Amino acid sequence: MIIKARNLSKVYNQNSEAEFFGIKDVSLEIEKGELIAIVGPSGAGKTTLFNMLGTLDTPTFGQLEIKDKNILSMDYNEKSKLRNEVIGFIFQQFRLIPTLSALDNALLPLLVSESGIDLPKKEKVIQLFYKYGLKNQLNKYPSQLSGGEQQRVAIIRALVNEPDIILADEPTGSLDSKMSAFVFDTLQRIHEEDGKTVIYITHNMNLVKKASRIIKIEDGSVILDETCGY
Ligand code: ADP
Ligand code: ADP
Repeated sequence: MIIKARNLSKVYNQNSEAEFFGIKDVSLEIEKGELIAIVGPSGAGKTTLFNMLGTLDTPTFGQLEIKDKNILSMDYNEKSKLRNEVIGFIFQQFRLIPTLSALDNALLPLLVSESGIDLPKKEKVIQLFYKYGLKNQLNKYPSQLSGGEQQRVAIIRALVNEPDIILADEPTGSLDSKMSAFVFDTLQRIHEEDGKTVIYITHNMNLVKKASRIIKIEDGSVILDETCGY
């Protein structure tokens, strides 16, 4: 089991009149290699759950283990280290740096990591551009790329530290349906070919259908957790 959450809750504005459960008592066991769609209406708590699973925010109650490590007992630095090693993030807005080339954007996680960057590592990242159909985009700036291309660069950036888990918050939310399918295909390859655990929030029914498991959130709770046979 790669992620284990037990009775996870996030209380916003705790001990004030505006106290509010973003998620409440969420328990999940996620196995390595699952392809999970998180669905639910706006305001349901999907991003809150995403932030908890990604160790970007701290649960108010409950337990969370990632790769058998207890997240809630970790300090800030331990969490950052684990996050950098284990999780790759993809967001709706691609969050590329406009003044860096596509390649340099993808290399950023290596630049800021402890081990740094060397030629073999750089070569590996370039290979990912070839693999995902971006070889002609290596030296272009984000403004010169289509939305789908920008998101695929962001996916490569999420992969460079060889994470076990990919967390994607509406990865195709800014793309038209054709681009969405194309970008999602890349995520599916990462799941199928590399055996990564991919967890994505989406409102796109076509992409929900492709998941190996669907988790539906409403009012902060899991109201459906279904493994899809295929
Ligand atoms: P979703 O991603 O499903 O749209 P969110 O997780 O963003 O839902 O939000 C769940 C609920 O928690 C919403 O009602 C939202 O307004 C509230 N919420 C989210 N973040 C905060 C915050 N930082 N402070 C207070 N309330 C928040
Ligand atoms: P998305 O719909 O793309 O998931 P949201 O609109 O739910 O994003 O939230 C965007 C950001 O604003 C998140 O970081 C969330 O934590 C924060 N946020 C959402 N609702 C509230 C709120 N009621 N109060 C404060 N922050 C909020």
